[in-house]
Amino acid sequence: MTLHELPDLVQGSLEWHDQRRGIVTASVVGKLITVRKLGALDFDCPACGAPANGPCRSKRNPDEPIKTLHPERTPSAQDKVTVIEPASNDESRGLTAALAAERITNYTEPTFMNDDMFRGVEDEPRAIDVYSAKYAPVTATGFMVEDKWGFRIGYSPDGLVGSNGLIEVKSRRQKKQLLTVISDQVPTENMAQLQAGLLVTGREWIDYVSYSGGMHLYVKRVYPDARWQKAIVSAVAAFEANAGQMVALYAEATEGLAPTVRVVEQEMRIA
Ligand SMILES: [Zn+2]
Repeated sequence: MTLHELPDLVQGSLEWHDQRRGIVTASVVGKLITVRKLGALDFDCPACGAPANGPCRSKRNPDEPIKTLHPERTPSAQDKVTVIEPASNDESRGLTAALAAERITNYTEPTFMNDDMFRGVEDEPRAIDVYSAKYAPVTATGFMVEDKWGFRIGYSPDGLVGSNGLIEVKSRRQKKQLLTVISDQVPTENMAQLQAGLLVTGREWIDYVSYSGGMHLYVKRVYPDARWQKAIVSAVAAFEANAGQMVALYAEATEGLAPTVRVVEQEMRIA
């Protein structure tokens, strides 16, 4: 279908939670993805001809698998690259269960804010002010959803820049700010969110803005990366299959069980 924009939605409001409920959003999609270095098993063996992911085979008897890998199979320096792929681990299963539960109850459980989260809420407009003064004006928006894959991926931009750009603001403790500035790299743990934001909006770039009050504003421009975006779409497709299965299993398993009602409504929450 198409990109749906809800520019007037206030982030953190009940209506905003209604839009995000049960769907994968950019801020959590990283939990569905792993980044790992390629190892010997990711390659065919040049010594015995074993295919990738298969064991090496005896050179005398090709039908006989052996326990070790031929040394020739070790990836060469130029092959030592990372692979970005859908995760199957505690984090991905935890997120899948959390979103499947939201689909079942149509309710978003409150997340209580810690000090870092409060500081983030206060720092975001300060960071945007400094960014706007130095680089370009920023337009606030609410929520965007793209569903062209047959499922939805949501994104709450920290701001739109012109008609081609976005910003994603992070409020950081000073140690993290120092390390980010001197490495001059976006932390890996934020890349899935940035790439998902670019994927959902179809925009050309996103400025990663790292803010720590009293230190210099760090800005790094990030462009769409096909490897990341392919992994994101695959990971969310796998999530949809798993979440759908969990909802169905729940319906089956609860037949005949006693229903209950939720009594306490907590209002203070953030995603
Ligand atoms: Zn081999």
